[in-house]
Amino acid sequence: MTSVKVAVRVRPFNQREIDKASDCCIQMDGDTTSITDPNTGVKKKFTFDYSYWSHDGFVTDPETKMFVKDQPNSKYASQVLVFNDLGIEVLDNAFDGFHTCLFAYGQTGSGKSYSIFGYDANIGIIPMSCIEIFKRIEAKEAKAREDGIEESPPSANGKPKHSFFANSVGYDITVSMLEIYNESVQDLFVKPNKRPKGGLQIRESKKDGVYVEQLTTIPVFSYQEIADQIERGTSLRTIGATNMNNTSSRAHTVTTISFKQTFYTGDKPTNQKNSNINLVDLAGSERARTTGASAERLKEGSNINKSLSFLGKVISILAAKAQGKKEAKKLVVPYRESKLTRILQNALGGNSKTSMIAALSPAAINYEETLSTLVYSNQVKSIKNKAKINENPQD
Ligand code: ADP
Ligand code: MG
Repeated sequence: MTSVKVAVRVRPFNQREIDKASDCCIQMDGDTTSITDPNTGVKKKFTFDYSYWSHDGFVTDPETKMFVKDQPNSKYASQVLVFNDLGIEVLDNAFDGFHTCLFAYGQTGSGKSYSIFGYDANIGIIPMSCIEIFKRIEAKEAKAREDGIEESPPSANGKPKHSFFANSVGYDITVSMLEIYNESVQDLFVKPNKRPKGGLQIRESKKDGVYVEQLTTIPVFSYQEIADQIERGTSLRTIGATNMNNTSSRAHTVTTISFKQTFYTGDKPTNQKNSNINLVDLAGSERARTTGASAERLKEGSNINKSLSFLGKVISILAAKAQGKKEAKKLVVPYRESKLTRILQNALGGNSKTSMIAALSPAAINYEETLSTLVYSNQVKSIKNKAKINENPQD
């Protein structure tokens, strides 16, 4: 049993918070994050696996828009630091054959997409992970060449069997991207006007577990290819403007990198390891009413809340079960009640190594929302998963 790893990250003030001359209500000390109630001055403390201070010390190079590292005394936790803690582990687990999941939680504008996807040159965990996957495989190929070039085992149609082959291991990588919007699951690799009205169906099988029917999975052979696909998928996301942040997505985005390794002895495949890397950028966790929502947005809001509120329910029941609470023993985990929890079923209390990054606004004007994010994250910490290596011995 492994616990879900939880990180929190606080971003710089945004323009709106600067304009309102808001105070900063977040403090961090080591792994501890504290939040101060602006009305009462009461401080609450939480401990996480990681507390990332990215509130100040963020200086960009005007040319590259890249975070400039060598600021004297800067405590700023950079994209690279976050990746080294969270992303590398996801990759190590994938190479070992575990399913992994990393999800970003937080109110709109708190920095979820920044951590997961990144902006401009400040690329986030997904692109960095993709670079690292291909780097590792290319290093293995280079090593194989050094050891004397090794041929990929022949396949029936004469085409190479695997995207990459090195030292008796074949590697195959595919990517898929989906969006859950208004409780409908859509393929982000399909143009909006070509998507089925009611969305895609979620199915379950013994062999594949929970999966989305007819979801496009694209084989990728290089970093550039996967980056281009993700860029295309990202550009086809549903965007809804609210007065909190006019570019924020109101949908949940799930990017899945499927990573398959086939091990050979001579020409004979002897074992296979499969890992799904799920990277989830959740919709804003705030309630619809705080964002000045109109009728359309409200309907949307309640559906967003359906997935998010069931995510909350699933998490609190799993947490209570993990803590051995008597009354929780008999409770059924309501995975099937929303699309999001259904798709993340494995990641939550199942066969997956899972981590979460909660994005925090530093501003006292967002105190209530940020506090609720911290309480939520605190619960997620106690969820226990039973990850196993997904092996498939060949005979
Ligand atoms: P969300 O996806 O949660 O709605 P975004 O990731 O789009 O929020 O972040 C909102 C804004 O805050 C972006 O303009 C982004 O540049 C900035 N931002 C977020 N996190 C950070 C960070 N860690 N460092 C610097 N800027 C950040
Ligand atoms: Mg976003």
